[in-house]
Amino acid sequence: MTFDWVIRNGQVVTAADIMRCDIGIRGGKIVALAAELPQAVQEIDATDRLVLPGGVDAHCHMDQPMGGGVVMADDFFTATRSALCGGTTTVIPFACQIKGESLKAAVADYHQRATGNALIDYAFHLIVSDPTPEVLDQELPALIQSGCTSFKVYMTYDDLKLNDRQLLDVLAVARQEQAFVMVHAENSDCIAWMVQRLEQLGKTAPRYHATARPMLVEREATHRAIALAELVDVPILLVHVSGAEAVEQIQWAQNRGLRIYGETCPQYLFLTAEDLARPGFEGAKCICSPPPRDKANQQVIWDGLINGVFQVFASDHAPFRYADPQGKQVGGAGSFQHIPNGIPGIETRLALLFSEGVNKGRIDLNTFVALTATNPAKLYGLYPRKGTIAIGADADLVLWDAQKLTTITNASLHHNVDYTPYEGMKLQGYPETIFSRGELVYDQGKISAERGRGQFLPCERSGFARPKVQQ
Ligand code: MN
Ligand code: MN
Repeated sequence: MTFDWVIRNGQVVTAADIMRCDIGIRGGKIVALAAELPQAVQEIDATDRLVLPGGVDAHCHMDQPMGGGVVMADDFFTATRSALCGGTTTVIPFACQIKGESLKAAVADYHQRATGNALIDYAFHLIVSDPTPEVLDQELPALIQSGCTSFKVYMTYDDLKLNDRQLLDVLAVARQEQAFVMVHAENSDCIAWMVQRLEQLGKTAPRYHATARPMLVEREATHRAIALAELVDVPILLVHVSGAEAVEQIQWAQNRGLRIYGETCPQYLFLTAEDLARPGFEGAKCICSPPPRDKANQQVIWDGLINGVFQVFASDHAPFRYADPQGKQVGGAGSFQHIPNGIPGIETRLALLFSEGVNKGRIDLNTFVALTATNPAKLYGLYPRKGTIAIGADADLVLWDAQKLTTITNASLHHNVDYTPYEGMKLQGYPETIFSRGELVYDQGKISAERGRGQFLPCERSGFARPKVQQ
């Protein structure tokens, strides 16, 4: 048996195991895991390196059509370049239905945006903003059949939000078709009411974005989403959970035996609402929804990663430039409510969690791999092709230098955003060499992936969305 590549002497880590072995790659797949594999066409020495499954970023936005003249800074080329350089080899961004338009058309448009541009493999979540009978009865079943087996629904944002009745309709389709639903849970009317009053008081600076979205609006919507899912008897995942009050609701549901899952993001571990009060207008750089909370809530989020409340650690990369005409500074100058929501983070996700989680002793290596690769691959129907190191899996592999010291600077990142919220943070541990489907695509700062090599990944129906076994 000859191999295209052998990766030698690495410490190979999966969600379950740590083993010192060689990895044999042929035809883009992992075909052997053993000590002392025979000579290959090409070899790489991974002594003193961890070998991890490539990261799966299951919540990121790129080249997503926006209303009001706002344009995302990253297209599929720059976003996947940035993801790759941070150790992520699979992304799942969102094909977003615009109200009044077809979801099928949104997916076709999104394929066009991705094709010829992506450096790494990608799947699509759907965003359902207008669940007409046509969408519910025809488009969703057909799109699920074609490999888009998960969708996100919003309880806030005027151009995206669904009311409770609509949410039930969408959840019922998910149950019928064994699709998996992600929920953005914030109470829309509470936020609108708060925004109006803050504006009347002249409180329009970026920091008031956090004032307008206190934790209770997230807690209430989280509870309501759980209740709706319980009524329909379908699993859901609460995305971008920010702090204690939503965590309590998710734990409450999990303790009752409901199939409720949770995702959190770097901004809820490393930023607080105080970052929205940075001098001048700089707080706009940290505006996202839900907003970052405080130090005590950061600890609650860490605890949720440690004790299993959360299954997924995603970036929620939402790339808007600060200084552009339509960007955060000028676009939002009138009031915080006009500042585009979202922050970049597709490249820094893994290194932040590794440095502060693994190297500081909060989580072990297996948990790191589970949260950043294996669990999202399983939830969204990409496992075992993606998200693990196993015979038959795609050879998406990261040689990780656990000792490497770095300082995050925007100049060293590969996205098309003009800032990072984590400027100046010192980290230990960084990806060094990366394979995607058996191709060496990144090595010590040099990208060798050809633009457009990334492939669309049709997702299986999620095993997590299977009907419950009746007793
Ligand atoms: Mn969201
Ligand atoms: Mn998002």
